[in-house]
Amino acid sequence: RTAPAPKPEWLKARAPMGENYHSLKRLARSLNLHTVCESAHCPNIGECWHHKTATFMMLGNLCTRRCGFCAVPKGRPEPIDFDEPRRVAEAVAALGLEFAVITSVNRDDDLVGGARVFAMVIHEIRQQAPGCKVEVLIPDFQGNREAIQIVVDARPEILNHNIESVPRLYRVVRSGARYERTLELLRYAKELNPAGVTKSGIMVGLGEETHELLEVFQDLANVGCDILTMGQYLRPSRDHLPMTRLYTPREFAELKAEALKMGFRHVESGPLVRSSYHAHEQAASTGLT
Ligand code: SF4
Ligand code: SF4
Repeated sequence: RTAPAPKPEWLKARAPMGENYHSLKRLARSLNLHTVCESAHCPNIGECWHHKTATFMMLGNLCTRRCGFCAVPKGRPEPIDFDEPRRVAEAVAALGLEFAVITSVNRDDDLVGGARVFAMVIHEIRQQAPGCKVEVLIPDFQGNREAIQIVVDARPEILNHNIESVPRLYRVVRSGARYERTLELLRYAKELNPAGVTKSGIMVGLGEETHELLEVFQDLANVGCDILTMGQYLRPSRDHLPMTRLYTPREFAELKAEALKMGFRHVESGPLVRSSYHAHEQAASTGLT
């Protein structure tokens, strides 16, 4: 077996350590909360947690779906914990966050219940951490309109739903999801609240062609998506989909330029970009939050 190729400089992230890192870890443990930073093995954890930025993951730590790229544990989830939004807001208040990103695993077992928890967390953060802006990174709720409306009606500053990949690769990358359903969710959210900011993200390095990426950007622009994030797929383990290629920082810049021509208000594109990476700055640069 040959040794793995050395990591290029642009993929080297800050090591997780330091006082803020450890205090955030303690806080999450003490409130029995999960973060996607840890569950998805995010490479940015050292940098983000140093700056007291974390993405809380609600609705348990087990996902009902099996996306081929994702390191979040899979399995039959526990019943929904309706006290979790209060504890997430407590953590947001304790950290003094000005911008919170909240996500969840998929709960195909209770779509409307999952949506209610998102609405509750927005409400709780308004109460416990007034002034803090909220971005929710939501699952597709299988396109359930009632669920989508519950979240939109709670008026998050940003409503994010990742498209993740190009339609040709959905079967292996995102087997439980449908490309058209994702576009429709973003379109419907915009219809319900035209003033709300919508956002989506995609990974590269899973076997897509450039022309397919550009088609996805155009589809997202056509449904009024305001913010686009784009980052390098990194295989979490040998059990996950292989990475087909590494894009260079220059290629990320070129893709960003193409996307901006299509009318996005902000595009965050780079090797280590994840949907919540620099989320506060992304939001600020739209001038909308
Ligand atoms: Fe967490 Fe997002 Fe930062 Fe990754 S980029 S460490 S998921 S806040
Ligand atoms: Fe991971 Fe897919 Fe579940 Fe999201 S829906 S947590 S990407 S397995």
